[in-house]
Amino acid sequence: MAKYVYSFGGGKADGNESMKNLLGGKGANLAEMAGHPALRLPVPPGFTITTEVCTYYYNNKRTYPKELKLQGEKALAQVEKLMGKKFGDPKNPLLVSVRSGARRSMPGMMDTVLNVGLNDVTVQGVIEKTGNPRFAYDAYRRLVMMYADVVMEKAEGIEPKGGKGVRKILDERLEQVKHSKGYTSDTQITADELKSLVAEFKQIIKDVLGKPFPDDPMQQLWGGIGAVFMSWNGKRAVEYRRIEKIPDEWGTAVNVQSMVFGNMGDDSATGVAFTRNPGNGEAHFYGEYLVNAQGEDVVAGIRTPGPINDYSKNDQSRNLPTLETIMPGLYNELYGIQKRLEKHYKDMQDIEFTIEKGKLYMLQCRVGKRNGVAAVRMATEMCKEKLIDSTTAVMRVGPNQLVELLLPMIDPKAEAGTSPIAKGLPAGPGGARGRVVFTSHDAVAWAERGEKVILVREETSPEDVDGMHKAQAILTSKGGMTSHAALVARGWGKCCIVGCADLEIAGDNKSFRTKKGAFIKEGEWISCNGTKGLVYQGSLSLVDVDLEHNQAYRDLMTLVDKVRVLKVRTNADTPRDAGKARSFGAEGIGLFRTEHMFYGEGSDKPLFLLRKMIMSKTLDERKAALAELFPFVKNDIKATMEAMDGFPVTVRLLDPPLHEFVPHSADKLEALGRELNVDMNELHKRADGLRENNPMLGHRGVRLGVTYPEVTEMQVRAILEGAAEIIKSGKKAIPEIMIPVTCTVNELAHQKKLVEQVAREVQAKMGVKVPYMYGTMIEIPRAALTANKMAEVAEFFSFGTNDLTQMSFGFSRDDIGSFLPDYLNAKLLPADPFQTIDQEGVGELIRMGIDRGRSTRPNLKVGICGEHGGDADSVKFCHRAGMSYVSCSPFRVPIARLAAAQAAIEGQARPSGAKAKPKAAKKPVPKAKKPVKKGKKR
Ligand code: PEP
Ligand code: MG
Repeated sequence: MAKYVYSFGGGKADGNESMKNLLGGKGANLAEMAGHPALRLPVPPGFTITTEVCTYYYNNKRTYPKELKLQGEKALAQVEKLMGKKFGDPKNPLLVSVRSGARRSMPGMMDTVLNVGLNDVTVQGVIEKTGNPRFAYDAYRRLVMMYADVVMEKAEGIEPKGGKGVRKILDERLEQVKHSKGYTSDTQITADELKSLVAEFKQIIKDVLGKPFPDDPMQQLWGGIGAVFMSWNGKRAVEYRRIEKIPDEWGTAVNVQSMVFGNMGDDSATGVAFTRNPGNGEAHFYGEYLVNAQGEDVVAGIRTPGPINDYSKNDQSRNLPTLETIMPGLYNELYGIQKRLEKHYKDMQDIEFTIEKGKLYMLQCRVGKRNGVAAVRMATEMCKEKLIDSTTAVMRVGPNQLVELLLPMIDPKAEAGTSPIAKGLPAGPGGARGRVVFTSHDAVAWAERGEKVILVREETSPEDVDGMHKAQAILTSKGGMTSHAALVARGWGKCCIVGCADLEIAGDNKSFRTKKGAFIKEGEWISCNGTKGLVYQGSLSLVDVDLEHNQAYRDLMTLVDKVRVLKVRTNADTPRDAGKARSFGAEGIGLFRTEHMFYGEGSDKPLFLLRKMIMSKTLDERKAALAELFPFVKNDIKATMEAMDGFPVTVRLLDPPLHEFVPHSADKLEALGRELNVDMNELHKRADGLRENNPMLGHRGVRLGVTYPEVTEMQVRAILEGAAEIIKSGKKAIPEIMIPVTCTVNELAHQKKLVEQVAREVQAKMGVKVPYMYGTMIEIPRAALTANKMAEVAEFFSFGTNDLTQMSFGFSRDDIGSFLPDYLNAKLLPADPFQTIDQEGVGELIRMGIDRGRSTRPNLKVGICGEHGGDADSVKFCHRAGMSYVSCSPFRVPIARLAAAQAAIEGQARPSGAKAKPKAAKKPVPKAKKPVKKGKKR
């Protein structure tokens, strides 16, 4: 018989940590904590209903498998036995919580119901047992509010009238009562007042929702379970899954667990803690707690939580007592448990605990989310502590988490010259600047029209995830380091400041004031230093971080470089970029785009000469212009080769169609005509002659070299003379000459003759031998298909996956933005193929190209220089395909190094033990990253 329910508690459990797919993360870990012989921790007993039931529920018109009821009843009876209480018993009632728990944590995205089992009768039992009517009615009041909201309204799909849900109506009524009595806190409401509130709430619920609150505990329980399953497809959960790329088919498990109460008086408490600091990775127990409170109070950020120990103090909690001082025995017990948990799981754990009348309970443990900075530090330190081996350390850091270490921060100079307008808690590191918006909706709308925004809120809730995701940074006036905003931002590695009590948001949500007197309106710029928690007025400049002195990063990269096979080069066209890439560990240049010297700073003169060459009427004129251009080209290439310090430099010959270099407006064209001293009619005729209907498939790349061999000759001479000069000065230079946009071996042979001729001349003239290679980009499907032929002439291939993707899909890389969102929404494509390689199609061309190329030339060097070379999933693909190197923008070099190492480790872990070169693509799990450069000038 299928098993749908797994029990835990009393030192035993049916499940364990490895069963996350079935029991969800929470359920699997509860089972592990409760039942593993090395742990057997004080976990309140309960049971988990599996994710399979969720799938069944959705596939079978919201019904359950028939075995579920009986299995649930048996499991409940077991909990009753362990607790010595009975569900629904008038004298000694058991109360339970009903919570979600997916395979991967989705903090706050699904629903929970607490205190299930309370009604007018059982509440008397609780009063008798606890002698605390106030506590009992407060728990009852919470159940009624939560149940109405989660089970009776949301799960039923009821759209609240006028946008005001039942929860809000009940909340307002609660506030009215408090107000009329002059109370400032919930804790001042008396037992009698709570009792009549419960009665009144039930009436309101009936009036608003047309149904009574169910008094039958069993009905409550099954209602709660159904609501949790329904919340898997709630708007927030679906949105979160989309952002986090969590498959819809996974489903959630439901955990039913006996309630323990942190709000039973001053000998009770609840808290959240981490076995290491998730903000910076330091190996210190770190956490927050509240006395006499329920767990939701800590996360909701309504009261400022206290620090569990001195290490956890921050500006807001500096003067609050620590758990260590007020409950030293319990703190020590908790400290011991967290040590055992970390040793057991061999990773940082995020734990939730409750103290009920002096007894400690563990409610949850899971691998803690951490930002990139912390991830790198934890991985390398745990490796040094021998808690994990070096392979595990390398696998622990997500390649995209490294981005956070490379993230810009606020320029310290700019920061020194101004003072912060407010200070909060540093929940997510890095710097950000943007225009202030106050709602998630505005954050999305403004970001979509290209604005950089910072989302400022009192606190965030799961409804805000979309806006939080779109914002450059998140700033909240309330909440602690474990508040919703902090947890979510930490998961994403986003700059985030929480608990900024200096900041007061105006009632109309259009401005905020700070204690220091700043007044900021919607749309005005602010800057955030998420590493220190500082907020500044205006837009401060951002600078890159200093990796040189980041020991943890250096340690990680040492481990990474020991295992990776794939080399990592960079796409760079200036000595500055080349130097930067070297500092990030680049082992050469995989793409130097010659044409970039004609754009941007210092390009006026070479651009003028290039234009002169383009506008030449005769071969002699063109040659003269090329001779003038030659020293600029040579110096540029030579300086970059020098910066690369003996590593290979692949120089690609001129690629774009010539019309791109000619001014498009008539007045600019005429100004050029005057400068060149040519007849205007002639000039217009020449410019018109360059115009093409489809320039990206037109006269570009090698085709220019075929029409104008002298252009190829000049460039090759510049490369080889530059290299010869470096070699003569006693240093190393390894130029690789690369021909773009080829589709037949004949083109390659044609250009090779020119290259060889120039090489002979340069070597004779300079008196040195220049070791160079001759190769091609593979950007056209035909080139990949005929790679065996191409490799007869080419000594290396570099896959230009930007164009190869464009030409394989027939999607214009410059225009895909207008229809890609439709494709992604309709799931016609799993991801933007210009960001992550389409392994099925373009990937097949690459695999075929490599195999065919190497069938002719076994030692063929193969790399990639399209944007995909810096995308972690694509890098892993390149490793498996057997490439020699990937090449990416300088900033992404460390990401590619890490991804390459992880690919090597994953390859070794394959049962066959086979390294690199699998035949079939593994499932593409793409991540959205930096967009591919748009515009014609690449
Ligand atoms: C490519 O096509 O992948 C490539 C690197 O060339 P470009 O982006 O310059 O067209
Ligand atoms: Mg290209």
